Amino acid sequence: MGEGATALAGGTDLMVEVNFGHTRPENVVALRRVEELAQWEGGRIGAGVTWRRLERDGPRALAQAARTVGSPQIRNAGTLGGNVGTASPAGDGLPFLAAVDASIELASESGRRTLRWDDFFIGVKKTARRPDELISAIQLPEALPDRQEFAKIGVRNAMVIATVYCVVTRAEDGETRVALGSVAPTTIRARRAEELISSVASPGEEDLREFARLVSEEVTPITDHRSTEQYRRHSSGVLARRLLERCLR
Ligand SMILES: Cc1cc2nc3c(=O)[nH]c(=O)nc-3n(C[C@H](O)[C@H](O)[C@H](O)COP(=O)(O)OP(=O)(O)OC[C@H]3O[C@@H](n4cnc5c(N)ncnc54)[C@H](O)[C@@H]3O)c2cc1C
Repeated sequence: MGEGATALAGGTDLMVEVNFGHTRPENVVALRRVEELAQWEGGRIGAGVTWRRLERDGPRALAQAARTVGSPQIRNAGTLGGNVGTASPAGDGLPFLAAVDASIELASESGRRTLRWDDFFIGVKKTARRPDELISAIQLPEALPDRQEFAKIGVRNAMVIATVYCVVTRAEDGETRVALGSVAPTTIRARRAEELISSVASPGEEDLREFARLVSEEVTPITDHRSTEQYRRHSSGVLARRLLERCLR
């Protein structure tokens, strides 16, 4: 992609920015008809795969997230690559990618490279993508944990940017991952909480309480027009615990 060009996938983020006058791209490259980007083979999900397809065929927690994105119209147009490209801390797809340690595949005239999610997302709406690179695909690991749950908290169920997003996964051997969105500049993992609970085969009340406490401690939210720092911190722990309990059932 030429360096001065802006990619347009579903346009559900980009056109909002254009309509509000926040950006005026000089050259736009429309990707909708690039078939390769819509290809999905095993754990390699083309950047142009829409929320609608993810809702139907995605791994459980990603499908759960897809179901909550915007409206049917937005889900038919919006893509996972666009969500990754925008890199909002409130992107619905990102906690799942963080929880499973997904990688982002980038393509340019000089070849392809793959970056782990935590090397790719570097700040609020900031990524390590070079201007000449397209996001070609999202790569998931071959084996995904059986137990995986997504949920978010917002002032209503749909068409709203939520205040906390969370994915919890738990593998057969107890390894537990907790990823959260909207509570730090980028999606984060609550590593201390993960470490604590992964070593407990059958967590009891005390373990669950400590797990929630650690999650609340690890997030670094801010107060803004959507919520307060205290509420986001508290609800991160509550939500993560609730999802862990679902994984344990
Ligand atoms: C009414 C409404 C409701 C919404 N609700 C939600 C919601 O609930 N949850 C949520 O997470 N999001 C929501 N969004 C935001 C948006 O729908 C998603 O982020 C969506 O995934 C963006 O995908 P897109 O294909 O439309 O991206 P686009 O708007 O086409 O692109 C977004 C950004 O990524 C770049 N880009 C796109 N594709 C590529 C590529 N292949 N390579 C490099 N850069 C690329 C673009 O240049 C642009 O900067 C909503 C938007 C609207 C308008």
